[in-house]
Amino acid sequence: ELDDDILKFFHSKIGGKDLVVEDVEEAYETATKMVIPRKCKWVLMWSARQSLEGTRRQAGITENYAVWYSYSRLPKVGVQFQEFIRGLGYQALNPGMKGYLTSPLAAFSGMGEHGRMSSPTITPKYGVTNRAMWAMITDLPLLPTPPIDFGAYKFCKTCGICADACPFGLIQKGDPTWENPASAKSGIQQGTFEGWRTNTADCPHCPTCQGTCPFNSKPDSFLHAVVKGTVANTPLLNSFFTNMEKAMDYGRKDPEEWWDMDDFTYGIDTSY
Ligand code: SF4
Ligand code: SF4
Repeated sequence: ELDDDILKFFHSKIGGKDLVVEDVEEAYETATKMVIPRKCKWVLMWSARQSLEGTRRQAGITENYAVWYSYSRLPKVGVQFQEFIRGLGYQALNPGMKGYLTSPLAAFSGMGEHGRMSSPTITPKYGVTNRAMWAMITDLPLLPTPPIDFGAYKFCKTCGICADACPFGLIQKGDPTWENPASAKSGIQQGTFEGWRTNTADCPHCPTCQGTCPFNSKPDSFLHAVVKGTVANTPLLNSFFTNMEKAMDYGRKDPEEWWDMDDFTYGIDTSY
């Protein structure tokens, strides 16, 4: 629900215009402001799945079809949602990805949990193989979904695979902190919350980290549903699971292999 606290995750300026809430019937935009009607008090979020095998073989900002296919589908789905909701007689405002902070909104809407990688939200089913959670503001009455805890945040405390894998050491190691240890260097404060931050100012988007996360697992891999169920209920075996994940090598793979693989449309196995 878009209350005063959730509104803080939307930027006060989008494209140089003020984002404001007013007691009006319909959204409107002028040369200086974008106006959200107060009655539009719901945030609808969605994500785009990302190829698992492509993610494990990403090799640079122009060699990661998994990310870019995923991003390219997000605005298309957004326009379809917008027209569908308009057809139902409601408003659907799409501020675009630069209009808000995706990860906190995704965590508050129960799509996933904050994790060590920081910018991707870890989802229960697909790990970090979902790209940016998009948000739309609407007056379509929606049932709020609460934040979830499936053990990911606790697992990250003992895991750290992504931080070890980052070629530039940009993912925060150690325990979660309230302040961003890299903010002095990067100039990016990234909010005050107890968690981890990635120094995105220096990140060349390789993006090796995405392919390493144990929560990306398929149903037939080691960290499958049974193990995820254990992680959700007790952190006692987390170190063991982390070591098993490393030993069984479910993470990164040789990028060259992808050319000889049979992969699914958009790289997405829709059987799970
Ligand atoms: S994208 Fe690459 S450089 Fe950036 S945080 Fe991930 S592993 Fe590190
Ligand atoms: S690789 Fe490990 S530490 Fe990094 S986000 Fe995934 S579970 Fe957390």
